Amino acid sequence: MIAVNKRDIRKLKLDELKEFFTQHNEKPFRAQQVYEWLWKKSAKDFDQMTNLSLSVRELLKSHFAINHIQVDTMQRSADGTIKNAVKLHDGLVVESVLIPTEDRITACVSSQVGCSLDCKFCATARLKRMRNLNPDEIYDQVVAIKQQAELFFNRPLTNIVFMGMGEPLLNYANVVAAIDKITSEEGLNMASKRITLSTVGITKMIKKMADDGVKFNLAVSLHSAKDEVRSSIMPINETNSLDELAEALKYWYKKTKRKVTFEYVVWKGINDTEEHALALAKFCKHVPSKVNLIEYNPIDDGEFQQASEKAIAMYQRILEQHGTQSFVRRSRGKDIDAACGQLANKS
Ligand code: SAH
Repeated sequence: MIAVNKRDIRKLKLDELKEFFTQHNEKPFRAQQVYEWLWKKSAKDFDQMTNLSLSVRELLKSHFAINHIQVDTMQRSADGTIKNAVKLHDGLVVESVLIPTEDRITACVSSQVGCSLDCKFCATARLKRMRNLNPDEIYDQVVAIKQQAELFFNRPLTNIVFMGMGEPLLNYANVVAAIDKITSEEGLNMASKRITLSTVGITKMIKKMADDGVKFNLAVSLHSAKDEVRSSIMPINETNSLDELAEALKYWYKKTKRKVTFEYVVWKGINDTEEHALALAKFCKHVPSKVNLIEYNPIDDGEFQQASEKAIAMYQRILEQHGTQSFVRRSRGKDIDAACGQLANKS
């Protein structure tokens, strides 16, 4: 593909695009038109830019590429969930998911190709981390799902979660740049409070986000409030302990006043006793928070197994007794490997 060698036009800021046109003896207001095509209208090709003359389109083509993603395959689950395998301009593939519920349509998007974190229960962890996604590759996943929401459900996209492949806080700058475009008027004009970033809990970056005054929501994949257990299933805990995490989250709340969501899976024989539930209830006291008890999605070997309904009910009871709200989240799209932790480019 020749396109790979040309500059990705969406890396340019509006001012840089204006300068390009000035240098080529064209009116700088063309930049505004092109910018609108690139972001608001998500043009995949310069020939779509019909309010530009042929010669201007040729000028752009000779200098730039639009490295748009391509939805390579789309699978639909019996429950309505849609999983997209998304091909990037360099041939790598990530997955993104549309999750329909009664009152929402949520886009679950990827931030990296593969993942470097090695959480023992996650299918994505089995893929090597290849690279970070660019802001426009993240943005394009959202646009693709927004279009599918309108086409297949006749409803607007309402929410976005960074719970696809990768760790968003290890690609922080690009994730924030994408969110800026998603929420800006020249992009999709979506509300930041409808966006949730989910992290394994990289404490330094949680503090940075708080300092940056971001306006989106934070979810932390906790899964255990006991260091020994958490370190054994999530190696990140070895360098970002629960104490450090608690401190970072307090800092986050102090600066942003935004409640934290903890994601938590209860597994048979790993964290399904009262002692673990009490540890979680205690941890939740550090910061205004709620808990999503996520159903486990098996990823082939039998090491991890969903705990009993009784254990989940016990967790809910203990959390309630300690004043923390909890919700049981059933999986969606399991039949097409689209559920949490199942994204592994199988197709
Ligand atoms: N790296 C980020 C976002 C990706 S994972 C993070 O860790 O938060 C999205 C969510 O799915 C996380 O809460 C993760 O812990 C959870 N998850 C991973 N594997 C899972 C599985 N097999 N079943 C259920 N949830 C899983």
